[in-house]
Amino acid sequence: MRKWIFSIFTVLFSTFAFSDAQCEMKHQNKFKPQIMNSSNHSYVHPDTVLSNPLFVKVMSLQGFYNDNLKKMEKAFEVLEKVVNSDEFKDRVVNFKNTKGERAFASNKGLSNEQIYEVFMEGRETLRPNTPGEMNFDLRLYNRSWSRVIGYTTPDTNLININWKYFKNFGAHEVAANLAHEWTHKIGFDHSSAAEHDSAPYAIGYIIEEMAAKLITSPTQKVALQ
Ligand SMILES: [Zn+2]
Repeated sequence: MRKWIFSIFTVLFSTFAFSDAQCEMKHQNKFKPQIMNSSNHSYVHPDTVLSNPLFVKVMSLQGFYNDNLKKMEKAFEVLEKVVNSDEFKDRVVNFKNTKGERAFASNKGLSNEQIYEVFMEGRETLRPNTPGEMNFDLRLYNRSWSRVIGYTTPDTNLININWKYFKNFGAHEVAANLAHEWTHKIGFDHSSAAEHDSAPYAIGYIIEEMAAKLITSPTQKVALQ
């Protein structure tokens, strides 16, 4: 009887924990975000949108050593370069969703340029007094049966990263995962793991693509603002 009660509790708790988790980023869902053509009437010139520099600031790391730590440091480096580039600004401001509109899904009524400004402002919901910083509290965990790459919940700054995926990821994929989870930390969500047009997913994909280019051709520098 006691065992039975425990399993019910486990099931209920897992369901709660799952629905509470903000992220279920799946590796196999590769998606290429589109950009509005500059000749389109709704294209916004990036120079008309304000931006401040945004720096990665590591607050705490749990479970990262040796090669894992090196990979994470590389991810921080490329992430910071990408978010401060003109190309990133253009791609977020002029992001075109799968319906052909210049808008993110689950955007809370914000335009692309407002989402870009919120992103570059760097004020996490639970850490609003550190403008200009992407603050990271990260924990590496191992759950081999799970299909979740990383997750976080609204009540904590902690971002959990699954070793099962992390171990095979390149630094560009780690950077994308960090960006996805951090976009949750500044208040954006997705309705499901299939909402590719949401800010966490689309921004994650943009960063993955740009970080991959930066890593494979380091001489082809990302144009910094
Ligand atoms: Zn997510």
